[in-house]
Amino acid sequence: MGKLMNAKEYEESLRKLKLNVYMFGRKVENPVDDPIIRPSMNAVAATYEFAHRPEYEDIMTAKSHITGKKINRFTHIHQSVDDLVKKSKMGRLLGSLTACCFQRCVGMDALNALSITTHAIDAKYNTEYYKRFLKYLEYVQENDLVCDGAMTDPKGDRSLAPSKQFDPDLFMHVVEERPDGIVVSGAKAHQTGAVNSHEIIVMPTITMREEDKDYAISFALPSDTEGITYIMGRQSCDTRKLEGMTFDRGNMHYGGHEALVVFDKVFVPWERVFMYKEYEFTTQLVENFAAYHRQSYACKVGVGDVLIGATQTIAEFNGTERASHVKDKIIEMNHLNETLFCGCIACAAEGHREPSGTYLVDVLLANVHKQNITRFPYEIARLAQDIAGGLVVTCPSAADLASPEVGKWVEKYLKTKPDVPTEHRLRILRLIENITMGTAAVGYLTESMHGAGSPQAQRIMIARLVNMKQKQKMARFLCGIDSSGA
Ligand code: SF4
Ligand code: FE
Repeated sequence: MGKLMNAKEYEESLRKLKLNVYMFGRKVENPVDDPIIRPSMNAVAATYEFAHRPEYEDIMTAKSHITGKKINRFTHIHQSVDDLVKKSKMGRLLGSLTACCFQRCVGMDALNALSITTHAIDAKYNTEYYKRFLKYLEYVQENDLVCDGAMTDPKGDRSLAPSKQFDPDLFMHVVEERPDGIVVSGAKAHQTGAVNSHEIIVMPTITMREEDKDYAISFALPSDTEGITYIMGRQSCDTRKLEGMTFDRGNMHYGGHEALVVFDKVFVPWERVFMYKEYEFTTQLVENFAAYHRQSYACKVGVGDVLIGATQTIAEFNGTERASHVKDKIIEMNHLNETLFCGCIACAAEGHREPSGTYLVDVLLANVHKQNITRFPYEIARLAQDIAGGLVVTCPSAADLASPEVGKWVEKYLKTKPDVPTEHRLRILRLIENITMGTAAVGYLTESMHGAGSPQAQRIMIARLVNMKQKQKMARFLCGIDSSGA
């Protein structure tokens, strides 16, 4: 191919995959056209579509450092601070255009983290992981692929190391080594965009020690490789998508999805293996991927933009927009949302070059940003529901509005002003419901909490990375305990 795919070409490329997908206990023969999955495919397709828009070209595309060709930024290895800043802006942009999780960041973050770690392993062991990685990267860039970055193992009993679990498959591991590659078993949980991906890139989920070295593996495979099964996660209100294109679905265009991905004795050829038992590099890979992905939560700023726009709109429909407390709550929503934006821009602006040439975000600031993401969207959502009113959870369905019998009553009693169609009011309420409670709430709230690591994971990193000694030194000097400071 060697070109930027458009949305249609992306959709067609997915049709060629033979994915083994299950949902509601049944095999999904055609995920692309499945009404529950399709909105999530549309959201990934948006990452292709907007790359072709001249106004977004600078944000959505980049120049490949290996081929010099124009590529989609989601397949790019960041070559400068400017690249990192544009990545944050791309996240906000796409969040604001889709109001959901557009899923493609995990692969971008996995590629960038692997570019650093494969290079580092080779420097120590004279291996050829980086060479393999670059060949793989070129394949991904040339074909403009979606990669699913798969890090999170099911983890079993959290108090036990991978090799101590009662079931060895609770962490992904090597079950057989062959002359031509390895065979792996295990699973990856909560995999964002799994069935919309061409490739799956597996990484270890935690720091591994020597006794866990069979678990210290990273590799990439085509998503339809034999032995891989996808079990779709349920989302709140997901079956509303089976009701046709009624406005009860809230977001008429886009959605996200997650899946449990099972690997049952799956073969990986050596050229697709990027880490094999080098357990001492697992911390670096996990922490760098996490830092990149915590930066990626710029997406929630964009979803916040839509929620704020929806909240201002419902206030105007209800005639409350001039009430001082409503104005102030909307200011607060904006303040929180822009504060989130500060974090993802700051960690990018403070990025630095790694020995591989890849630019890495400031890890402390990326963790602070994601910690804020675990909190502020909940407050923004609370304020949205406050302003929207109780009707956000009590309004009758689109079918009732269309009913020959009761439609006139819904129309009459839920109307606020002559110039505001009742249907418009219900539509905006359904969008607010979708983002704060429905299928998009997965992406705006719970994913903000647990995606790219749960809150405590960031607090551990913050504790480790702040320069406490320096802070204490200055405090001691300034109050006169010590005679020297800076
Ligand atoms: Fe990207 Fe955000 Fe979805 Fe994660 S939650 S994949 S950062 S859009
Ligand atoms: Fe996510």
